[in-house]
Amino acid sequence: MTSLPQHSAPPQRSARPTLAVWKFASCDGCQLSLLDLEDALLTLAEVVEIAEFHEATSRNVAGPYDLSLVEGSVTTEHDAERIQEIRRASRTLVTIGACATAGGIQALRNFADAGEFARTVYPTPGYIASLATSTPISAHVQVDFELSGCPVNKDELLEVIQAFLVGRRPGIATTSVCMECKRRGTVCLTVARGIPCLGPVTRGGCGAICPAYDRGCYGCFGPMESPNTAALVRRLRRDGMAERDVHRVFQTFNAAAPAFRSVVDRSTFRSEDADVR
Ligand code: SF4
Ligand code: SF4
Repeated sequence: MTSLPQHSAPPQRSARPTLAVWKFASCDGCQLSLLDLEDALLTLAEVVEIAEFHEATSRNVAGPYDLSLVEGSVTTEHDAERIQEIRRASRTLVTIGACATAGGIQALRNFADAGEFARTVYPTPGYIASLATSTPISAHVQVDFELSGCPVNKDELLEVIQAFLVGRRPGIATTSVCMECKRRGTVCLTVARGIPCLGPVTRGGCGAICPAYDRGCYGCFGPMESPNTAALVRRLRRDGMAERDVHRVFQTFNAAAPAFRSVVDRSTFRSEDADVR
């Protein structure tokens, strides 16, 4: 049985390249970033045929698809089968957002007993048929490009779409949030005021919006290229952060990203040893 949409009539294809947007386990926020393109979305809809995008339209056109954007993580057996079909139907596959690129906040289950969560939350946990882990799309199929963020930055998303439509590499930041603080003239919260901030290890792309509003970065864009998490952890500890709190700041939207997960794996602190406050 196929799990891609069934088409009752032969698809009417246009000469335009086809764009498909797929949802897995996620909050839909990254799809909303695409809708949030507003005027650019209207132009985009003229140059591509939107073949699949349930957040925006019930119309769908059979594949193959020139560009598939995939939001969300794999959390069920059905997801694991469906992503294989989508991969086969897609010439280029790009994952968007923390869920699709790193497993998302739902990957916190990877550090615990998912069955225990289900028994705690649901009155009839027997109805829950999910995997014990939440995994990124790249753990299941080949991915041509990953765009991180929770949600993704809409301008970066447009850049990725444009780049793949014309056959070039996307111009997406790989440097840290700190670089963006410097560009916008934000005085460093950590250096000047000792405020904990994950900016030094987090990929830029958001415009360093949180430090600009006096709030430390909490890493929603995921790890930058080659992050020095060990040095940042030393800094956080020196500024007075307890080890359990170091765990917490790295265990959010990108908890299962290898670079952030390694902080928890390296630590001697274990959450089951924590005092109940
Ligand atoms: S405030 Fe945070 S992101 Fe900005 S420069 Fe300082 S450490 Fe980096
Ligand atoms: S948490 Fe960090 S990466 Fe996310 S929007 Fe704020 S500054 Fe940017």
